[in-house]
Amino acid sequence: MAIALLPTWAHADRPLLYAVRPGDALSLIAERFGITVAELRTWNGIEGDRILVGQELRLAPEGATPPTAPSAESTTPPSSEAATATESPAPAPSPAAEPVVAAPERSRAARPQPNGVSYQVRPGDTLSGIAVRLGVEVSVLLEHNDGLDPNRIRAGQRIFVPEARPAVDLEVQRGDSLARIAARHEVSVAEILRWNPAVRRHGLRAGRTIRLYTNVPLSRSESVGLPYNGSLINPEPLPDHPLYVVREASRAFGTLETVRWIRDAFEVVRRQHPAGPRVRIHDLSDSDGGALRDHRSHQSGRDADIAFFRRHCAQNECGFGNTTPAQLDVRRQWALFHAWLVSGRVEAIFIDYSLQQPLYEYARSQGATPAQLRDWFQYPRGQNHAFGIIRHFPHHRDHLHVRFVCPDTDRECRAGWRFAHAH
Ligand SMILES: [Zn+2]
Repeated sequence: MAIALLPTWAHADRPLLYAVRPGDALSLIAERFGITVAELRTWNGIEGDRILVGQELRLAPEGATPPTAPSAESTTPPSSEAATATESPAPAPSPAAEPVVAAPERSRAARPQPNGVSYQVRPGDTLSGIAVRLGVEVSVLLEHNDGLDPNRIRAGQRIFVPEARPAVDLEVQRGDSLARIAARHEVSVAEILRWNPAVRRHGLRAGRTIRLYTNVPLSRSESVGLPYNGSLINPEPLPDHPLYVVREASRAFGTLETVRWIRDAFEVVRRQHPAGPRVRIHDLSDSDGGALRDHRSHQSGRDADIAFFRRHCAQNECGFGNTTPAQLDVRRQWALFHAWLVSGRVEAIFIDYSLQQPLYEYARSQGATPAQLRDWFQYPRGQNHAFGIIRHFPHHRDHLHVRFVCPDTDRECRAGWRFAHAH
């Protein structure tokens, strides 16, 4: 095979089409597949940065064919469960527009057949009963199963149940539980059992691969060690958001979880309080973690320095600058902190003690319980008090420093705010 003659985009590991997932940005997708944002724009006729969830993007120029020679395998669905779904609803594409599919094991999101599982009808089943149990509409089942008669289904018959979410194959780790996997990937335990009959029969086995259909991307990033003595593997860049501006992209890498959690919380603020200035985000970690100039922590992809939401900022953009309680936009700042706190994803939020009081009073007025206030705030117990997620640290009057918890998939990640923090 003439491997050496293949153009740079023809990479055997890369599908030639990709369906955009929630949280994606052009820069994230480009990084993930080792291509440039400019290439993505050219190949897809995109001018700005706007992409939509579910939109299919070409990861190669028009007319590109798979880098591997077509073989019998490349037209076979990778899953034996899906293999029974021969009634493809998609009309046969014209040769010119034929979707190109890469190596079979990586083509899940790109192959023309929809994702889904085959359901074997049991005695006594009705189509509407099956639809309710599997959480799909009867009309969707009819649409995806040619010749299916809702009044005449029989035990043993197979029905294809389409699944709109992208497929993810996950290796079960020692200590995983169904409940934990379900929570982490935002699916239900019942769904996992339906997608993986072997799990229902034999239970979870470490080292086995199970299939999920989820909009939550698989996390390849790993936070290693401590924030002030650690590193970061397979980092993700912080994607853009209308409510913040990243100062320097080369110093804005984190774990997949960190960048999602930052963006998710800003999205909550945007929905609740859309009007107001945006803020500047300075450093997270650099692209491989480890020591970062001007900081002691920020080594393991879990730290971020972010300007405060102030009521008024020049050019509608709040940079780092000494902030008084009166200047703080308490409503928006609390919306951001609250989103993080209720998610259980933050280990610490470092801000000057003087800024804790207005946030504390506002949180109480918004219905925070005494127990929540005690867990969330160091205030009013003094700036040396050992507890409270929102806590004092010197030199944090001009910005906040958030540190996220270790992602539960990152086994070498170590918590450790109690021991040290400094810039
Ligand atoms: Zn910091």
